[in-house]
Amino acid sequence: MKVKNIIGVLALSAVLAACGNNAENAKTDSNDAKEEMSVKEDSKEEAKSGEDKKDSDSQKANEENVIYASFFPIYNLAKQIAGDKFEVKSFTNLKTESHGFEPSAKEIAELSTSKLMFVNGAGMEEWEDAVKNTVDIDIVNTSERIDLIKASEDDHDHDHEDADHDHDHEDADHDHEDADHDHEDGEEGHEHHHHHGEFDPHTWLDPANGKVQAKVIADKLSEVDPANKDYYMANYEKIAKELDDIVAEYKDKFAKVDNKKFIVPHQAFGYLAREFDLEQIPLNSLTSTGEADAKVLKEVSDLAKAEKIKTVFYEMGGSDKEAKTLADEIGAEAKPINTLEFATDEELSSNKTYQEMIKENLEAIYDSLS
Ligand SMILES: [Zn+2]
Repeated sequence: MKVKNIIGVLALSAVLAACGNNAENAKTDSNDAKEEMSVKEDSKEEAKSGEDKKDSDSQKANEENVIYASFFPIYNLAKQIAGDKFEVKSFTNLKTESHGFEPSAKEIAELSTSKLMFVNGAGMEEWEDAVKNTVDIDIVNTSERIDLIKASEDDHDHDHEDADHDHDHEDADHDHEDADHDHEDGEEGHEHHHHHGEFDPHTWLDPANGKVQAKVIADKLSEVDPANKDYYMANYEKIAKELDDIVAEYKDKFAKVDNKKFIVPHQAFGYLAREFDLEQIPLNSLTSTGEADAKVLKEVSDLAKAEKIKTVFYEMGGSDKEAKTLADEIGAEAKPINTLEFATDEELSSNKTYQEMIKENLEAIYDSLS
């Protein structure tokens, strides 16, 4: 009888803990509750034998409520689609750059509170194998229906003599064995980041892809929770309509401008450029987010002068120093562009949607070209 009561209390606190923002409060409450509980030391002892069951009970309650998204854009879409039916958590810290993230064993273990995680795929989540090998979680690749751009297709355009080149072909194995070594390099200087993947991972920056990725999320949620299928599909349809409108509006706008080239902080806009028939000029390669190579800066500067480019984009929420220097040199302006690879405080506090951020990017690019 006593055992049963304690299980009841624990199950209740598991439910409370699963209620998102209340998790912290629930923790404090259970600390207070400990005082009262200590009187019942005897029953605690008796309950010991039931401990395994309690753990698995509370874990089960969590698994049914929590879903993970790998990083900001996927998190934002999953939250919009899941609405109040699931608690959506981001695996990476929302305010930290996502490239090069290497989760700790503890962070990976936390995923066992859920059964389901949405990732971008296309090689964005370099830690995916580590998670697969450790935790029993269903990892859903939201870019699986997208025609991916090969990493090397774009690389040769602006990455002349970049070290990235050789190891793409001969050294596939070496890449993987050397992950630790790469990471150490990365901490000293971001410019040494190499991309490990075969594909350009930045699918989400094209709104047409975002719609496809949102559909994957809606389909999966409908599959695991068929009772709420209509709810998920309605949330998806709203996003899809907004994205369709954005694509139509900017296809029209971009078709009318002569200049198609825009300067970006790193090579993240390949899918967007393909969708709208534009050309990105990156200061950094696919996954490096540090300072650009002097040689690349000189090339971009010459090109920008010849093409009369009037804007140099820098990473929203990041440093504008390099962009400003280049902009001054070519008589242009430095302006922010959003890779959505991390979120700013303003984006999080205002609950800004993926659709709004993507539209702002397109408007900024359009403004720079027209
Ligand atoms: Zn990137």
